[in-house]
Amino acid sequence: MKTCWRDIAAAENSYAALRAACSLHGILLYPVRAPSADITCYSLNSVTARKYENEIRGAECITIAGGPYSSACYREVSLYADYVVVGEGEHSLPALLHHIMEPEKTPIPPGVATSEAFIPPDSNVFLDAYPPFREVKGYIECSRGCPFHCGYCQTPSLFGGSMRHRSIDSIVEYANRVRDARFVTPNAFAYGSDGRSPRFEKIRKLLSNIESNIYFGTFPSEVRPEFICREALDIVRDHCMNTKLHFGAQSGSDRVLKQLHRGHSVSEVVSAVELCHEYGITPVVDFILGLPGEDEEDQLKSLDLIRWISKYGLIHVHQFLPLPGTALSGALPRPIISEVQKVLGKLALRRKVTGSWCDHEIRFFTTPSNDIT
Ligand code: SF4
Repeated sequence: MKTCWRDIAAAENSYAALRAACSLHGILLYPVRAPSADITCYSLNSVTARKYENEIRGAECITIAGGPYSSACYREVSLYADYVVVGEGEHSLPALLHHIMEPEKTPIPPGVATSEAFIPPDSNVFLDAYPPFREVKGYIECSRGCPFHCGYCQTPSLFGGSMRHRSIDSIVEYANRVRDARFVTPNAFAYGSDGRSPRFEKIRKLLSNIESNIYFGTFPSEVRPEFICREALDIVRDHCMNTKLHFGAQSGSDRVLKQLHRGHSVSEVVSAVELCHEYGITPVVDFILGLPGEDEEDQLKSLDLIRWISKYGLIHVHQFLPLPGTALSGALPRPIISEVQKVLGKLALRRKVTGSWCDHEIRFFTTPSNDIT
């Protein structure tokens, strides 16, 4: 049987991870631009799910859907896809493919839903058991999972509320095969830790063993603002090539941050920006506007913070999108007031602000070269 992977730009990380996992079982995933024989796999998020639902529904081959949207809405997705992989797919996708190929020999594995039944996942992926993203994406996934539970984020429900890390030996092995080592993690400065209390000695040990150019805490990974301290920035200065650090502020209102369970304050964001500036590092800071419970005053506080950060760094702004499987899944976005839109427009023209605050499918000046170092 030929197994295909539907080429969807937003799902490249999933393709990279699952292609590597399937290849360990002797199964090749062929990228395709339309559903193809015999089996086609999809990874869907909340934006792409709408676009591909009819294609999956009308496909003549066997279809398998996974990804954050399918995991959170597996009942709904199983009405149009033959199988739904819920959560991490490294173990369950190859096992499901073996079941489809020889149903009499292997049962449907845990972590797979159909329109008739769902067997919940029974384990988390041990990162060292699989190659990182390197072969397809050039990035190395060093950690997964997050102990914070920000109300808008799917990471904890998809990957779990504890951080898991690829071992230093495994990361070093793959990093030393490439010229530029870049990492995928929800918080690079939490490497080796429980995700809440940094273990900087482990990060130093990791990075001092890598001979390639190291980009850490910048595209495609990020860090949390309260982890940005002198010790962390000394590590970046001593070991890394990046001139930028990427982190989330999300709001300029402490009241909203508390409602979101972000676990940090506005003053910690300010300190992080000031420290980056002192070290000659450009902060690239994420904001979400239109958050539920955010009033006009909160939006203006965010705008003040954005204006201030724009003197020292760059800002990514996104409109709130309720995601299934999160605490805010049923909440509606608040309108973004005209004064905020006007200032963001001006800052976007100066290339200080990028992102999508009017429409989730329209992004302003999303130029990777702006973010990548
Ligand atoms: S936004 Fe970041 S810190 Fe918050 S839950 Fe998601 S991954 Fe964790």
